[in-house]
Amino acid sequence: MAASGSLIELKSRPAQVAARQLHAAVKLISACAQKADGAQLGELLILIREAGIDPLEAAFATGVRRFDKSGDYAVDGALSVTAWLKWKCKLSGGAAAERVEIGKQLERLPKTEEAFARGDVGYQHVAVIARTAENVGAAAVRTEERNLLNAALTMDPGQFTTVAKNFEHRVDAAGALAEANRAYQRRFLHVGDPQDGVVRIDGLLDAEGGATVRAALAAQMKPIKDDDRTHGQRFADALVEFCRKGSGGKRGSSGSRPQLIIRASLATLAGIPGAPAGELEGGGTVPAETVQRYACDSALIRMTGRTELEHERNNASRTLSASTRRALEARDRRCVWPSCGRPADWCDGHHLVWWTRGGESSLPNLALLCRPHHRQVHEGGWSIQRREKQWLVQPPLKIPGRVLARRE
Ligand SMILES: [Zn+2]
Ligand SMILES: [Zn+2]
Repeated sequence: MAASGSLIELKSRPAQVAARQLHAAVKLISACAQKADGAQLGELLILIREAGIDPLEAAFATGVRRFDKSGDYAVDGALSVTAWLKWKCKLSGGAAAERVEIGKQLERLPKTEEAFARGDVGYQHVAVIARTAENVGAAAVRTEERNLLNAALTMDPGQFTTVAKNFEHRVDAAGALAEANRAYQRRFLHVGDPQDGVVRIDGLLDAEGGATVRAALAAQMKPIKDDDRTHGQRFADALVEFCRKGSGGKRGSSGSRPQLIIRASLATLAGIPGAPAGELEGGGTVPAETVQRYACDSALIRMTGRTELEHERNNASRTLSASTRRALEARDRRCVWPSCGRPADWCDGHHLVWWTRGGESSLPNLALLCRPHHRQVHEGGWSIQRREKQWLVQPPLKIPGRVLARRE
């Protein structure tokens, strides 16, 4: 259908009638989706998939198979049916190729084709079955087709993929191994250059690598009380935190943790207006507040720069000695922010009076703050102070809010 909603020119009379009815039904469904709510809306969403999208995908797959065999896509100048689908049906290369493969495999899997057309199994389940047939042959899948379809009825596509992979391993262990080896060869990780203050990370891992990363990050991902971070933000924080800890080194032995090198002038460190940004040695810049946060807990940073900075660094009192750090951990035990409870090994030693303003690296001037809360102080503009054995935090003046408190 054209963008205006008018029907395309169909030459066959039955297709014209079907198109008109489909168009009318889609209009009705759209109107219902605007109005329905609660359980009715839920039922409508199921109806859209089971009576609309899935059976239509089944019809699409059958049509694609027949169109492919006919070679009629060449009339439009396309070199393959996949290229034609990309062009005329606005599909991505992967989506077009998947539908061509489903069309091919369904011809040999009649039970699956029927269940798909009835809307009993969804598109993604059928894509899994088609991939399995591609890997071990449709004949092998036919011997297990009923069991696979029964599993598909009760499982989401992710769980069903595990069942299908188990089946592949049973009928063709060597093939499953070869596939795992191919997957392993595809692994890569790309960490981009900073652009507009963000770095894009892309990658592929094999199943084992992916599970290892998930398991390692899961421990760092637990939400804290009143945590307003999204799941994705917690995942991102966990990755950075994991890398920050390096190869398992304890806090006292900073040698095993990655050292982030920031070049910054003394003016930047002191927060003087007009000072340049800090420069990350790996590329990219960070604002003065971030430089100050890193400098606040010196264990994670070596600063380089101008002569006066070197001089300052050599004479600075910001460095926490191992014994001061131990005493700080013994006193605070965890992040001191009210409502936070992140353990000490997530925490930096924050100087209540920053060392650039003469604050000392001694216990009365220090507080354990987890990385997100340390950031909230330096980059977020919050203040933290200790008064009569209580930790008090206050939002920046421009944000109206109340003082939160926590007993030591
Ligand atoms: Zn700090
Ligand atoms: Zn915290």
